Amino acid sequence: MNKERKLIVAGNWKMNKTVAEALLLVGELKRGAGNLQDVDIVVCPPFTALSEVANALRDSNIYLGAQNMSEHGPGAYTGEIAAEMLKELEVGYVILGHSERRQYQKESDELIAKKAQAAHAAALQPIVCVGETLAEREAGQTEKVLEGQVRGSLFGLGKEQMRRTVVAYEPVWAIGTGKTATTSQAQEAHAFIRGLLAKLFDITIARLVRIQYGGSVKPSNARELMSQPDVDGALVGGASLEAQSFTEIIQNSI
Ligand code: PEP
Repeated sequence: MNKERKLIVAGNWKMNKTVAEALLLVGELKRGAGNLQDVDIVVCPPFTALSEVANALRDSNIYLGAQNMSEHGPGAYTGEIAAEMLKELEVGYVILGHSERRQYQKESDELIAKKAQAAHAAALQPIVCVGETLAEREAGQTEKVLEGQVRGSLFGLGKEQMRRTVVAYEPVWAIGTGKTATTSQAQEAHAFIRGLLAKLFDITIARLVRIQYGGSVKPSNARELMSQPDVDGALVGGASLEAQSFTEIIQNSI
């Protein structure tokens, strides 16, 4: 697939995989997807497996990501992980503002913006998640919600930081439900977000920023979703837990 931006396919393992299981999975992934070009592949294991997975990925083309981080630098924040600690483990990306964190940890756009700035300060590339709930979509609020989240979660980023930020459009109703946005729903939302980035930053930045789609991406729907002009990759939950399905998604995306 000839795309304007390099595709980025990331696997969000959520709270799954022991270290041993994580190593098995990355071993299989390296065999299946280790020589694929034209796509940035990222795996985001739980914190407990980052160090071992970093070692396992060292001789591969697969990048390492984390699922969250603190907005603070090192200090008295019990249970938190600072951006520079991730950087030390060769983490390159960090998922911020996933809808599960927005829902269960009540993360606000303001907090996510602080985390995004802290990520950039440590040279990590944030993957900032936005997306509407089913009730919001049914009430015709999708664009209003996306605008609020994009403006709020990316607040304070400079143009160069924005260029190195990935946005993940993840309709909440499609995450882990088996329901996928139609290609036109995804394309519409992505084009809307890109238009907003042009307003908030500039047209060049908007053209460069990669916008992933997330929400029940599977091998069977990846190709169609990725064929949309403003869909630049996928953030994959459930189907990233098996090497075969994640590899097929990657293969079907390029
Ligand atoms: C996600 O959690 O980011 C996600 C997209 O999950 P799933 O692919 O399982 O819907």
